[in-house]
Amino acid sequence: MTTTDPAEVTSSYEQRSAEGASGHAGFGGHSWAASPDAPSARTHDLIAQEDEHLAHNYHPLPVVVSSAEGAWVTDVEGRRYLDCLAAYSALNFGHGHPALIEAAKQQLDRLTLTSRAFHNDRLGEFAAALARLAGKDMVLPMNTGAEAVESAVKVARAWGYRVKGVAPGRAKILVAAGNFHGRTTTIISFSDDEQARADFGPYTPGFELVPYGDSVALEAAIDEDTVAVLIEPIQGEAGILVPPADYLPEVRRITRERDVLFIADEIQSGLGRTGATFQCDNVGVVPDLYLLGKALGGGIVPVSAVVGDRDVLGVLRPGEHGSTFGGNPLAASVGREVVRMLETGEPQQRSRELGAHLHARLGALIGRGVTAVRGAGLWAGVDIDPALGTGREVCERMMDRGVLVKDTHGSTIRFAPPLVVTREELDLAVDQLEAVLTELG
Ligand SMILES: *Cc1c(COP(=O)(O)O)cnc(C)c1O
Repeated sequence: MTTTDPAEVTSSYEQRSAEGASGHAGFGGHSWAASPDAPSARTHDLIAQEDEHLAHNYHPLPVVVSSAEGAWVTDVEGRRYLDCLAAYSALNFGHGHPALIEAAKQQLDRLTLTSRAFHNDRLGEFAAALARLAGKDMVLPMNTGAEAVESAVKVARAWGYRVKGVAPGRAKILVAAGNFHGRTTTIISFSDDEQARADFGPYTPGFELVPYGDSVALEAAIDEDTVAVLIEPIQGEAGILVPPADYLPEVRRITRERDVLFIADEIQSGLGRTGATFQCDNVGVVPDLYLLGKALGGGIVPVSAVVGDRDVLGVLRPGEHGSTFGGNPLAASVGREVVRMLETGEPQQRSRELGAHLHARLGALIGRGVTAVRGAGLWAGVDIDPALGTGREVCERMMDRGVLVKDTHGSTIRFAPPLVVTREELDLAVDQLEAVLTELG
């Protein structure tokens, strides 16, 4: 990666984000950041209410957000924070992007839902644009990422029986160790994360785990019943793990030779996050199916999709699969606007150029409280030296300093700011990490 002066990237993105930053009062002179006031009763009460009435399937940082713009969120105390998680990349275009909000508002006033029992006047255009962006023929619209994964599993199995000629009931899908593809019972059946699967069985059969990044092991696991390989081009939840450069090209070569579908779960890595439209683009491969979600809904509505060619997605027949909300006109309008932004190439370019800067700055912390940095574009996994503290402790201290990041797997923290972030804001985030590491060291 090369570093380009981001001042060259002048755009509505930059302006918007700079506006957001200029109103920020937390940093500089008499910043609260160094010694935040204790949270008020309001923060305390709102968190207590959630604790009382929500299932405890998350462990959020103790910040209660009430508004946001661009790369910044504001909590109920009026404190502003730089959002370096971006809702796990669902907010690639930032909070409240005017074009996305406008698309949603226009559509809200006209038509929000028809179900697929009827046609609507927004879905076709969205599907055509998304298929074109991906260089594919067709789109299967769903809502959440997990639904896109489930849909691809069904499509791959049907393709296996109807096209490849696999014996009934025998279809096998290869998945990678350390995978994260969602939370449904079928998907957690092929997770190797005990926290995600223990006590949720019995498990769905038909999947086999192979080591991530090892194309030889993958090829050895393929047999006559293998219909698909399902992998994340970069493993997000596992800690932003980037496989060897030849891995995905090898997976593509092997799957083509062995008549196996290559399904790329780009739900987190896709749509600009890694400095390209898809992480697959960065390594020069084209999968049979792209799985998209998160940023596809512009941070406004849940929108996901399976995108592929007619010879694969065409196996589905009326009545075999569906979703009440999948392809609804509100989702299609926002999704169309997301695709429009990606068609300009601007978010991808920002991610690539600012990502180079982010990685250079984080890389300089190796040996100073950081043991490793991985990622691509504006996506970085930072391993904290366990001698200093846990990832959670680092995140809490970053929060006190006005930067929101999230830990994963104990000692890794991830940076995934909205792609509208500026170079100065990235510097601010890394400065705070540096200060936290000094504090703990
Ligand atoms: C988030 C994610 C999913 C699941 O998406 P949901 O919308 O939470 O169901 C699937 N795959 C990957 C790679 C993800 O990051």
